Amino acid sequence: MKKLYNAAIITHTGECLFHKDIYIDGGHIARICDSGTPQPELMPSEIIDCSAYFVSPGFVNLHAHTAMNIFKGIAEDVPPEVWFNEMIWPYESKMTDEDIYTGTLLGIAEMLNNGVTAVADHYFGEEQVLRAAKDSGIRMDIAPTIFGLAPDFRDRLAQVSEFIRDHQEDSSRISLRFGPHSDYTCPENVLAKIVDEAKKMRLPIHLHLAETELQVEQSLHRTGKTPFRCLYDAGGFDVPVLVAHGLWITEEDLSCINENTWFAFCPKTYMRLASGRGPFFDLSDQLQYSFGSDGAASSGTVNPLEQARLFAMLEKFNRNDAVLYPFLEIWQKLMAGHAVFGAGSGKIEENAAADLIIWDLRTPDTMAYYHPVSAILYAANSANVRYTMVEGEFLKYDGTLKMNFSEIAQEGMHLQKNLLARGKGTAKVYY
Ligand SMILES: [Zn+2]
Repeated sequence: MKKLYNAAIITHTGECLFHKDIYIDGGHIARICDSGTPQPELMPSEIIDCSAYFVSPGFVNLHAHTAMNIFKGIAEDVPPEVWFNEMIWPYESKMTDEDIYTGTLLGIAEMLNNGVTAVADHYFGEEQVLRAAKDSGIRMDIAPTIFGLAPDFRDRLAQVSEFIRDHQEDSSRISLRFGPHSDYTCPENVLAKIVDEAKKMRLPIHLHLAETELQVEQSLHRTGKTPFRCLYDAGGFDVPVLVAHGLWITEEDLSCINENTWFAFCPKTYMRLASGRGPFFDLSDQLQYSFGSDGAASSGTVNPLEQARLFAMLEKFNRNDAVLYPFLEIWQKLMAGHAVFGAGSGKIEENAAADLIIWDLRTPDTMAYYHPVSAILYAANSANVRYTMVEGEFLKYDGTLKMNFSEIAQEGMHLQKNLLARGKGTAKVYY
């Protein structure tokens, strides 16, 4: 049992509760009480003095290709079609298991360092992704990516189903779902097959939809339907769906979605790839969303706090209205994403999963602050994240990651050199 002594709590709504002791047992918050109140039946083996710290729920990253941290910076300042067709997909076609494993560890290290306790991953090489998740201890929802246009689609779907069956019960920190890449790489009949499999196994799906205006135009040209309508007609919204992006969702598409549809919004990627101010921004009041990062090759970072910060600033700027998106509202959006994992995380209350950040805001970046949430949203960085805890286990402790990061970084640079020397292969799909 651990005790966080005399902490100031920042709740999921952004409210602050001062002078609290938090007891953590078996991965869950066992008790919260006024600091110093005797709890004789609770005997912590470790006490962290949080007198100078704030404790909040961890952050969640709702959409990441975590392994792509191995490609961070490989394709800068190019248009999306060049980014996909001439850079990322050709390099990805020659990736090794070690690239995926180490790339995923690099991404996880970045996330844990920034207080991210859970990530919804979407990538191939799922055995390596799973290995990295387990080795690190982060909470991960894994959606093995399926490209429907690949000739081996049926084999791949069978392989993913088997992987999910084999690992469904592995760990309380791991959840699994189907990951069709997108509507444009999975035609409707293929989507329907994947959705049928998800229904059979009572699992959700995670896919890219309507990321760019061009994708919507091409879908209308190809099928007469929007990407959302294609998924709807494939039965996709009969299961819970995590939509990556949906930046170019249309008003008519709103009739496709339901209370089990979540959006992972990734503004930094849209800014870097010049994806435009899609209708999502104006429809966002009608959508359940939180923030994702996408892969580090497009976003540069895998930190949802940075995405939320950019989202608020982008809309204040674009709509010439500084009052929009007050910091508490953005904080609540960040916290809302915990619901996707169904792990009981995201709140600081008894019986909640102990997925927490301990913040030190007494640093040059955040001093002097007036409200801890505005300090975190607009000024904080990873140096303010003193501890990151997942299911009661410290994965960052007193400013230092538990994983051996220097070893992982060394391996990352070694693999990066090999990757460039190996060069590009042939992409399986075309953007
Ligand atoms: Zn993505």
